[in-house]
Amino acid sequence: MTEIQTLATAAPIAPRPKPWIAGIHAYVPGKSARDFGEGRRLVKLSANENPLGTSAAALAAKALAPAVYPDPDSTALRAALGAKFAIDPARIVMGTGSDELLHIVAQGYAGPGDEVIYVRYGFAVYDIAARRCGATPVVAPDADYGTDVDALLALVTPRTRVVFVANPNNPTGSHLPGGEIARLHAALPADVVLVIDQAYGEYVAPEDDDGALALAAAHDNVLVTRTFSKIYGLAGERIGWATGAAGLIDTLNRIRGPFNVSSTGQAMAEAALADTAFVEAARVHNRDERARFVARIEALGNHGLRPLPSQANFVLILFEGALTAEVAFNGLAEAGYIVRWLPGQGLPQALRITIGHSADMDAIAATLRQLAEAAR
Ligand SMILES: *Cc1c(COP(=O)(O)O)cnc(C)c1O
Repeated sequence: MTEIQTLATAAPIAPRPKPWIAGIHAYVPGKSARDFGEGRRLVKLSANENPLGTSAAALAAKALAPAVYPDPDSTALRAALGAKFAIDPARIVMGTGSDELLHIVAQGYAGPGDEVIYVRYGFAVYDIAARRCGATPVVAPDADYGTDVDALLALVTPRTRVVFVANPNNPTGSHLPGGEIARLHAALPADVVLVIDQAYGEYVAPEDDDGALALAAAHDNVLVTRTFSKIYGLAGERIGWATGAAGLIDTLNRIRGPFNVSSTGQAMAEAALADTAFVEAARVHNRDERARFVARIEALGNHGLRPLPSQANFVLILFEGALTAEVAFNGLAEAGYIVRWLPGQGLPQALRITIGHSADMDAIAATLRQLAEAAR
């Protein structure tokens, strides 16, 4: 055998990712206009963005932020959050979006041999967060697409380290009442971290508050995450925050990115937080348009369309009749609307539609009616 032949037949040597990394399916974002080619006006209702845009005060603050390294501790922003929510700023940590915080809480508390629990039809990032630190994801069955506290508790073992619950949940929009969140927390061992992801918390009616911030203030094992991406309309700036006991915050501060929120992001978030009129207008718009939209979809119940009850800024519609979610997705794209079809998350029978402007929601409901009538 010549030397050349030996080289050609030997196993190629290349870097190999850890096996738990190789098992990750990369996050699939919602489609946007660029996925549908040039030249068409497409309304993007696939990423739960705020149809009212961004507070003018936040946009004005953007122009003023310096481009040198940001304050690594987001001091002024944490002080503003602390004042607004009556939290000691020392118990707040900022993240590059709440995504960073979801990842690093898993990394801080779980590793190979440990288990991380979340619900089926939960937020897609939890699976990646669990796997990327080598932990084993454990998926609890749903209760008609909603979060089932007993199903979560039934899966707790001595290996459980972290439980993720989004409340409201994405993509289902379902919301657990405070009593259920408290019951879940009370039954978890004290060394299991309960992460309550409130990315859509501002959309929940005040009287339906789930009490998560109070739990995080009172217990050593509850972390609440929040974001400026949704109601504040700052998704492009990547700003999230979390609050919990000093021990949890200390862990996250050790492993977060050192300059993880940009100067622009800090300035814009502070201004957005102060613009309470903008946030309230967005909440009321969403509440009213969601109710109107849900009523119009419920009227298509005879065609097998079923909107799930939502406390968020989107509605998940199940297609249980002749019209399939896939045909509806394509029909809506034809009509100029990009929504979210989720076969990769085990929901080929559903579309998640962000609540947008009134005229757009009417056009979507009318298009779905036409498609449903054509399908029977
Ligand atoms: C959108 C979303 C987030 C966070 O997004 P960031 O932009 O990273 O703050 C977190 N959790 C859920 C359930 C979401 O839908």
